[in-house]
Amino acid sequence: MATSWRYAFDMAIPKPPPIPPNLQRGTPEWNWWYPNVYRVSPWWGYIRRKAIDIQGNRCQNEDCEDPGYPMNVHHERYVDANGRWVLGREHPMYDLTVLCRYCHAAEHGD
Ligand SMILES: [Zn+2]
Ligand SMILES: [Zn+2]
Repeated sequence: MATSWRYAFDMAIPKPPPIPPNLQRGTPEWNWWYPNVYRVSPWWGYIRRKAIDIQGNRCQNEDCEDPGYPMNVHHERYVDANGRWVLGREHPMYDLTVLCRYCHAAEHGD
């Protein structure tokens, strides 16, 4: 039955954690919330796995010669053009990029 299949499919997608009101990137609240709530949430586990499935378990940096495993999943954007959070509704192809840990660190300027 299509309805029961759809129900089972919806149930398999974890709900994203609520984003605290007035959260701003780079603040102490963000620095706590992002790693301790968002990044450990079932939603993030689900969507990052989706990105790795779709983009392949390989570094998307064309210049990468010696990928550092495991792969990381990098946010291309955190908010959309209207300033709304993309967190909790990331597109696994357009909002996220699979990078090895070396290229990911380089992307963040480490
Ligand atoms: Zn990143
Ligand atoms: Zn790489």
